[in-house]
Amino acid sequence: MAFQDILDSIYTEVLQVENTGKKADYIPEIEKVDGDKYGIALVDINQKVFTKGDANEKFSIQSISKVITTSLIFSKIGNELWKRVGKEPSGNAFNSLIQLEFEKGIPRNPFINAGALVIADLMLEHFENPKEYLLNFVRELTENPTINYNQNVIQSETENGYRNAALVNFIKSFDNIKHQPEEVLDFYYHQCSIEMTCVDLAKCFQVFANNGVIPQSNKQFLTSSQCKRMNALMQMCGFYDQAGEFTFKVGLPGKSGVGGGVVAIFPNHYTVAVWSPKLNKKGNSFYGLETLERLTTETEASIF
Ligand code: GLN
Repeated sequence: MAFQDILDSIYTEVLQVENTGKKADYIPEIEKVDGDKYGIALVDINQKVFTKGDANEKFSIQSISKVITTSLIFSKIGNELWKRVGKEPSGNAFNSLIQLEFEKGIPRNPFINAGALVIADLMLEHFENPKEYLLNFVRELTENPTINYNQNVIQSETENGYRNAALVNFIKSFDNIKHQPEEVLDFYYHQCSIEMTCVDLAKCFQVFANNGVIPQSNKQFLTSSQCKRMNALMQMCGFYDQAGEFTFKVGLPGKSGVGGGVVAIFPNHYTVAVWSPKLNKKGNSFYGLETLERLTTETEASIF
């Protein structure tokens, strides 16, 4: 079956499933978003785009940005990165503090908040103007110059981010954060506030489906080994303490965010992005997971 037919039928099927998810309410600006939004975009390896529903509306990518910052640092400093952050699944919630005490301030992986804060610290160290660099990079990957930070989301997270403040201070007490906590949080909230559509997001992640080469420019951004490792990390850690279930049901590497976005990669085949703001108890989009499970089931193809 052609991708468009598959998206059409999955969309209709998923809408019949009762959505028991709830919007993230700890970031007031995210809670304001219409919970019934639902969009899907799939970009195949030849850059052909297929869409369904609200695939052209922008939303806050939140934790999905962690993949982009991690890959920027990985491409810049290589395996030195793993001295500052681990590469093991956490089995804990995305904003958990627990493991840091035992592991002396080295977060388990770069996709939980603790790890992303260390990556944010590295971004401040290795890029002269990291906010501008990140934005330009995302605009390059998506070929969309209108992509931007959302100042209201930044403010909302800054005012309510007690846990992230606790995390960054705690890690700094182990000397694994070099900059001032406020500076690190400011960068982190900027990256989380980036807004994209499902189409932008699926395009943005094509580099991970294409062995580290940016398809638009043919530029080798990551080595193929680094690209393999980014996909491995997404597979093990992209959905926090639901990474096992995601792997079990979907069978693709991917990443979610509390804005309701989910992106998944089928290396050498396609990237797919889904947006639906209501989240399950693990903080992952309820319809996002329903959609992707059906996609790999109906196409009978995954990395496994
Ligand atoms: N900005 C959010 C936070 O720090 C990102 C969390 C997420 O998307 N899982 O809590």
